[in-house]
Order: sequence, then C-alpha cells, then structure tokens
Amino acid sequence: MARADSLSVFQFVFRVSVLTSPTQLPRLKIRFGTGWDTCNYHCEYCVTDQPIGDNDDSPTTLPVLSRLRSAAANPSKVLRKVVSVANRLPVLPGKETPTIGWDEGKYLRIIDRCAELPYSLDVRIGVGGETFINKTVVEGARRLSNHANTAAVNLISNLSFSFKQYEKIFQGFDLSRIAMVCSFHPTEIKDIDRWIETAAEINQIVDLAIVLVAWPPLMPTLIENKERLEQAGLEVFVQAFHGWHEQKKFPESYSDADRDLLASVFYSKHDYAHMVDLIQPGDCYAGVDYVYVDINGDVWRCGTYKMPLGNLFKGFDLMSRPAPCPGTECWCDTENLNTVAFRKQYELNSLNQHKYRARANTMGELAIDQSATSDSN
Ligand code: SF4
Ligand code: SF4
Repeated sequence: MARADSLSVFQFVFRVSVLTSPTQLPRLKIRFGTGWDTCNYHCEYCVTDQPIGDNDDSPTTLPVLSRLRSAAANPSKVLRKVVSVANRLPVLPGKETPTIGWDEGKYLRIIDRCAELPYSLDVRIGVGGETFINKTVVEGARRLSNHANTAAVNLISNLSFSFKQYEKIFQGFDLSRIAMVCSFHPTEIKDIDRWIETAAEINQIVDLAIVLVAWPPLMPTLIENKERLEQAGLEVFVQAFHGWHEQKKFPESYSDADRDLLASVFYSKHDYAHMVDLIQPGDCYAGVDYVYVDINGDVWRCGTYKMPLGNLFKGFDLMSRPAPCPGTECWCDTENLNTVAFRKQYELNSLNQHKYRARANTMGELAIDQSATSDSN
C-alpha cells in the first residue's frame, strides 16, 4: 500500500519542495466536497434539490423554500431520501462524525494542505451550487492553481457571468492548470447566443467542457443543443438525469427511445451502461489514485459509498489495487470514470476530467457484461 500517513508534515514539505515538477510525483486525483451549496440559478433538476422532490414551483422560488414545500407535499420521498443518504453514510463505530457543511476556514486549510502532499494533484473543487459567487471558493482555486505540486484544478460553473467578469475573477490564477466544466441550463439562461459566445471566449483561456443534463423535458432538444454548442467549437458531454420527475425515478424511467438517443450521445459505452442502465461497474480505481476529501479533511474511497481511508492532516492510506465497487450507482459522473472497465478503453487527454480519448489498441470498443446486476433502487 502507498502510505502518506507515515510521513510528517515536514517530510511532506521537504519532498514537495525537492520534487519541484508535479510530473515527478505520483498522480492523485481528488474530488474535494466543499459543502458550498448556494446557487444563483434554480434548475428544477439540480442535484442539490434532488432527489427529495419534483420541484414544481416557479423558477423564481428559492431552492430552500422549494425543497421544503416539496418535502411537505411528498413525505414518502423524504423518507426515501433519508434512507438513501443513510445508506451512503460512513460507518464509524464509536466515533462522532463532524458536520460536513461549508466552512471558509476549513476550506482554505485544506487548500493549503494540498501544497504539502507528496502527490501531483488533480483536484476537482466540488460544489453543489455556483463556484464563482463565493469569493473564498475562488480564492482557494487561485491558491491551488499556484501550488508547485498542482497538475490540474477542475472547476464547475453555470457560466452566468460575462467574459470580462471571468477575466477579472481569474486574475492571479495560473490558467495553464485550470479546467472548467460549465453546465448548459436552457431553462435558466436568459440569452443563449450570448452564453455560447462567452463559452467560446472562455474556451480560449482555459480547458473547457460543456455538460448537458438529460432531464426528461430537455430530451427533445438535447441533440439540437449539443450540435449548436459543438458548432461553436466546444466539447460537449451529456449527463444522465438522476432524480425524480413527475413522480418517476430516473434514470430507471427513461423510455427505450430516450435510451437509444442517450446511447448515441454518451462518449463511452461504459459511461452509458453505468449511468443510464445502472449496470454494476466492477472493479474501480477509487481509493487507489483517486479519493474524495470532505471539508474536515477526511479522506474517503469515493464520494458515493463512503469507505474511510484517513485524514488529509493526520495521514491516509491509499489502496494498492482496484477493488469492486460496493454499489451500482455513482453519484458523481467523474467518479464513474475511475472504473477499470473505463480506463482499459479510454485515457485522459487533457487537464479536464471530462476529456478522454479511446486508447489506440481498443478504438473505444467495450464489452459490457450484460449479465451484471442492475440497480433496483
Ligand atoms: S446551476 Fe447547477 S448548482 Fe445551480 S441550480 Fe442549476 S444545477 Fe443546481
Ligand atoms: S464506481 Fe463510483 S461508486 Fe463505485 S467505487 Fe467507483 S467511484 Fe465509487
């Protein structure tokens, strides 16, 4: 097993300062769950709102009010949500788990701690809201982009600011290490042409990918929107909708026609099989060269099924080899790409955690084990 916990802070710092190039250090991909969950948009399909309710309120309703109303109207969904969340909570007998909500001080301490780790880091700053409305989240991203051992910083945004505003926000960043995934939310964007122009401009200064969410009401325009964005020179990927819509649970409730359409736009058969058909993914590198870190610095195998590996400050043990996924559903699309099946077929080809190319010897072909169990949740 690779051990990080046997090194003191001093040794960490020493090693990182001696090995000045991140390429000389072993690579570690991190999803940092910051707990920041406030947004200036209110998409009905938001994962922050889901899967408690359907959010039938008007788009102007505050998310929290919408969630409370929805919860009051759908007590059985609240129960399902509680059970679902409980199933994903870590089991730590005899140990109290500190809260994992947003905390500015803890956030910056973890960002600064990253500079001391003996790894070449590829960090996704995970938010359940909008990254760029929080100055501290942005400050952390700026610091991280300037650490000697940072290989990539992946950021998420709804791209609701102008290009000029982003240019101002990015002052002091090392943009050569920044990748962004911007979500295209046609129900919220006031001027779609302007949004696409901004995306094309951002694409000139950082490594950008656009994500479209296959929310059922958006299925009829999915292909059209994807092509429109691609015509502007943007790389686009599609994410399955996981949640509730009109009393139906998705992705289980996608029709056959929806499934055919999604199969044609997903960039890997594996990705489609796992995220749409919920086929058991088999062995996964989560915990080996990828970890989830929460706001307390606790390190977990991944963000979906919480298996403890230690703590960023006290030390953590990585796993020595891929192991079976304990479940069938990844709650994070980038985590799903850590599976052995996916990596055999694809390799990362940029800073962006969403840009892959088929390995030369496979041409992207993937034999999916159709006999594997599918999720029945
Ligand atoms: S932009 Fe993203 S975080 Fe904000 S409401 Fe929409 S889906 Fe949620
Ligand atoms: S496939 Fe997803 S849920 Fe399963 S272990 Fe890997 S990252 Fe975690």
